[in-house]
Amino acid sequence: MSVVGPGGRIGILGGGQLGRMLAVAAAELGLRVHIYCPDKEAPAAEVAAGFTRAEYEDEAALTRFAESVDVVTYEFENVPAETARILSDHGIVRPGPLALATAQDRHVEKSFLKAQGIATAPFADVASEADLMVAVESIGVPSVLKTRRFGYDGKGQAKIVSPGDAAAAYAEIGRAPAILEGFVNFEREISVVVARGENGETAAYDPVENIHKNHILDRTLAPACLPKAIADEACAIAARIAKELDYVGVMGVEMFLLPEQGNKRRLVVNEIAPRVHNSGHWTMDACTVSQFEQHVRAICGWPLGNPKRHSDAVMTNLIGDEVESWKTLAAEPDTVIHLYGKADARPGRKMGHATRLYPLGKRPPVTPS
Ligand code: AMP
Repeated sequence: MSVVGPGGRIGILGGGQLGRMLAVAAAELGLRVHIYCPDKEAPAAEVAAGFTRAEYEDEAALTRFAESVDVVTYEFENVPAETARILSDHGIVRPGPLALATAQDRHVEKSFLKAQGIATAPFADVASEADLMVAVESIGVPSVLKTRRFGYDGKGQAKIVSPGDAAAAYAEIGRAPAILEGFVNFEREISVVVARGENGETAAYDPVENIHKNHILDRTLAPACLPKAIADEACAIAARIAKELDYVGVMGVEMFLLPEQGNKRRLVVNEIAPRVHNSGHWTMDACTVSQFEQHVRAICGWPLGNPKRHSDAVMTNLIGDEVESWKTLAAEPDTVIHLYGKADARPGRKMGHATRLYPLGKRPPVTPS
């Protein structure tokens, strides 16, 4: 592909905060962003050069959009397959269809990882209540029933503690196509944000530790305190996934770190996000090149930037009315705040984030709140 240089145009499907931060990063590189989404309130559109408000099924609008930009990317993984097909008929879509199809279906995703010999929780496909009974028998309890598609922040999931819970769990997820996963008694949750360029080069940010509250990411600790061998292994797994998916762009890989067993610790991959990731927001303020700039560089065929960390960091999401603390946070030295311009601070809504910076190696220990 020819490189999309300064003055070039990037189309982004989705109008949320990830699109907004991508648009700002693209503007810093002299590129222009056009947002496409059906929503009236689109935080990304406020900072973009162009905005099309239309449904993802609107073929005429999609065609006009694709033909007005040099490359299309997306900020969420649930892009309908038909939308991606229409867009790719008219131009370049990055990451490509394999990554999208793999990451938007948990069964396809886990089967792909298994085929690569990458460890996951044990899982089984569930297409009916009878399947679920068989799966509970083979995987055992406790286990987690997850919808194959459209789950996020713990939505579309039900825990099964005893076999008698299975029918209720299935009803709870709306009897949707699902997978049953064995419950992993992890020690910590970590993630790796990795970029892969058009030429196959990869660059991973340091693995980070993620702490959740009410199933939503609360804080990211950068870096995760891990033995070097484990940190290297986490980065290698993420880079391998990107390579096998022929990925171009930035991707988040969520993993569980299992407790030490006989001097060995294991990593298990939980989920692949084919986009910039909430656990990579700290890179905006603590790295030479942020995940947003990195994604723009990758999809535009530029050399990847240096993912090196110049500071340690704790990123805290501002969820719902937590955003009201902006004034206090703004007065703190060494804290950088990012607010997404959303009007309504509904419970559970990501309104912004704050990143507190520390000199390398000087981050104080953090305990869950
Ligand atoms: P997910 O939507 O798959 O990212 O899951 C949301 C959260 O649920 C994860 O961040 C974990 O805290 C928890 N979780 C998901 N799958 C499992 C599992 N197999 N075992 C234990 N906890 C899990």
